[in-house]
Amino acid sequence: MQEVSKRYGQGAGAVAALDRVSTTIAPGTFTAVMGPSGSGKSTFLHCAAGLDTPTSGRVLLGATDVSTLREAQRAVLRRTRIGFIFQAFNLLPSLTVEQNITLPLRLAGRRRDEGRLGQLAERLGLTDRLRHRPSQLSGGQQQRVAIARALITNPEVIFADEPTGALDADAAREILALLRQAVDDLHQTVVMVTHDPVAAAVSDHALFLAKGRIAAQVASPTPDAALRLLADLRRAAPC
Ligand code: ADP
Repeated sequence: MQEVSKRYGQGAGAVAALDRVSTTIAPGTFTAVMGPSGSGKSTFLHCAAGLDTPTSGRVLLGATDVSTLREAQRAVLRRTRIGFIFQAFNLLPSLTVEQNITLPLRLAGRRRDEGRLGQLAERLGLTDRLRHRPSQLSGGQQQRVAIARALITNPEVIFADEPTGALDADAAREILALLRQAVDDLHQTVVMVTHDPVAAAVSDHALFLAKGRIAAQVASPTPDAALRLLADLRRAAPC
């Protein structure tokens, strides 16, 4: 991401949601994005993932300049090269677990690899759930399905937006451990927006946003360090 700005509105009422943000996410690493409410976390994620276009600056995914693509091209890129995990799971209720997991392959017109499906189901403890519907599963299980769906295309990067926000503490811990394993064992790249310092502590690297800018960066953050930084940023930029 190079000098990325995103402005909403015009003139005196304009808001700079992102203000010349530059950062590089190293492949095979786990990055947490934190910051007070309104600091630009969602905008950062949306621009980085090609869900939205910056007002200025460049977003590169490998050699592809995402910021110059048209919406249809960005949609293809999102389907084939990016995985998404959302707070609300966003599974399709009428599809089985197996159909939900393989949906990105169907949308991309790619053949499913039974071996990979089986391995992912095994890794995520879903083998005996594949024929269930999402409504028959707990929140933690539904989020495991969403992780499998994100991993099935072997994407270059997975973006997770508050993935533990709707889960109890035990399920949250389990989901964070699975995301960590995806980085350590499968060499996936994960970028996760979170307001939870405990969640951020599983990352290799935390970016702290404030008023649309990167205010701090911490390697291997502890929950205490993340909590203190967040409190400092909230004091500096009350919302
Ligand atoms: P966060 O995710 O950290 O809470 P956001 O990225 O959602 O922050 O928002 C950053 C700033 O941009 C906030 O001031 C917010 O009000 C503003 N903003 C976000 N989306 C829009 C929009 N669609 N229209 C106008 N302002 C927006």
